[in-house]
Amino acid sequence: MITEVLTANQLKKEAPVFGQLSFDNHEQVVFCQDKDTGLKAIIGVHNTILGPALGGTRMYDYATEWDALNDVLRLSRGMTYKAAITGLNLGGGKAVIIGDPKKIKTPELMKRFGKFVHTLGGKYYTAEDVGMETSDMDTVREVTPYVTGISEANGGAGNPSPVTAYGVYMGMKASAKFAYGDDALEGKRVLVQGIGHVGEELVRLASEEGANVIISDINEERLAAVSKKYGVDIYRGDDLYAETADIYAPCALGATVNDDTINKLNVKIIAGAANNQLANENVHGALLQKKGIIYAPDFLINAGGIINVYAEIEKYGREQITTKTENIYNTTLDILNKAEVTGVTTNAAAISIAEDRIATRKKEL
Ligand code: NAD
Repeated sequence: MITEVLTANQLKKEAPVFGQLSFDNHEQVVFCQDKDTGLKAIIGVHNTILGPALGGTRMYDYATEWDALNDVLRLSRGMTYKAAITGLNLGGGKAVIIGDPKKIKTPELMKRFGKFVHTLGGKYYTAEDVGMETSDMDTVREVTPYVTGISEANGGAGNPSPVTAYGVYMGMKASAKFAYGDDALEGKRVLVQGIGHVGEELVRLASEEGANVIISDINEERLAAVSKKYGVDIYRGDDLYAETADIYAPCALGATVNDDTINKLNVKIIAGAANNQLANENVHGALLQKKGIIYAPDFLINAGGIINVYAEIEKYGREQITTKTENIYNTTLDILNKAEVTGVTTNAAAISIAEDRIATRKKEL
């Protein structure tokens, strides 16, 4: 493989696109720019063997364009595995819009982005992600049908975040069952990092079950509001990663399990909503395994959102959304057991199941 024979510097010069690890056999990457609205976006279509690529649009003020490209590629690959392991007939894709949503997001920019999505003719369906609201998807819907996560008033399945949180909660309980022999969260110390759309709902579910929830966020107003609403403590130490707890739930951004944090982590379970929690899935997945920390693969347990938006395409209702999301509990337990029996990391066990499903489908095509 090209990445094994070239050094990082050679790779940048000689194989800056297809040779990058994150490119990982993407079918198509589309760069979109519009001067009038200031739109700069990248759409990654990783794999469409199981169906059209579906994945949200993230709007973020990336430090460099390279960061944006790397993010979209990693995220769209993750969507391929998420759909495959959840049993959905969907491929993996994702989009990023470069810029601070509070500063440059306008209906005109969202419509221009929607028109770019439309040019892909249904190969890619978008949805909301960080920096997006359901109302933004309604705006995109004005120019293309290839969008999900639109409001219930406009015929959609509504905000996916509560369903995502419910799936994470299922994955967390299954991990507790695996670790402690009992899935009850009562009395368990749970650190929730990021109390946005998903994190807050996870705080509600875990605290209502009697977990000892501690919250952390960079937004002080939200911290105060969520702490008051659910009677949970705010983390006031100077290093969340060194905190002793039963469960760490990353619900902000990805790559929080990295070279800096891995040696400090003092938890039994990692189960959260953020995508790509492992900075390097091969290195950090193996180190977690070595430390005896149970890692519930992110793309498996945060699939509630995609289950919710898939309902819009397949026209199924709330009951089926709930059943499919609850099934994350069983899939998580199966994967944790499979990883233990085979000695591979939980992430690798989940990826191999997803890849098997894609390979089987490929043979049928
Ligand atoms: P959000 O933007 O609503 O919330 C993120 C929260 O994290 C915000 O409150 C923000 O202030 C906080 N935050 C940012 N940086 C932080 C830091 N360094 N430390 C602590 N807190 C920080 O996003 P969301 O929709 O709740 O999604 C959370 C994560 O879950 C994202 O990684 C997203 O990709 C992933 N995810 C979301 C869904 C969904 O349905 N919304 C589905 C799958 C995966």
